[in-house]
Amino acid sequence: MSDCLFCRIVAGEVPADVVHETPRTLAFRDISPQAPVHVLVVPRDHHADMAAAVDADPALAAEVLAAAVAVARAEGLDGGYRLVANTGDDGGQTVHHLHVHVLGGRRLSWPPG
Ligand code: AMP
Ligand code: ZN
Repeated sequence: MSDCLFCRIVAGEVPADVVHETPRTLAFRDISPQAPVHVLVVPRDHHADMAAAVDADPALAAEVLAAAVAVARAEGLDGGYRLVANTGDDGGQTVHHLHVHVLGGRRLSWPPG
């Protein structure tokens, strides 16, 4: 999908600060970090959101989560962290290519509002 921002990052057409790669996932720093560590983990294949990925390729959804945990460990988030997959408009999703936010490095507030 050439009009999808995260597909373009996966393709190397848009620069990103890549921190972790697997054969089917890519992780890069969020351009507008909301915490000291803010990384996005995406599947290389385009799926609009977590629901679409779970339906089409549940093993891939699990690989994205495993990559997110690997990123949290590599970033040294021993005190805890948050994984977020905003889904759909009410979920606040703005980029419609599945991504899991890895947030940490400070005490995070809850609820999100
Ligand atoms: P969401 O609101 O869950 O769809 O999250 C989309 C995220 O993508 C936001 O946190 C943005 O800051 C982030 N973002 C947008 N453009 C880029 C980019 N070119 N590189 C890295 N992160 C981006
Ligand atoms: Zn895409």
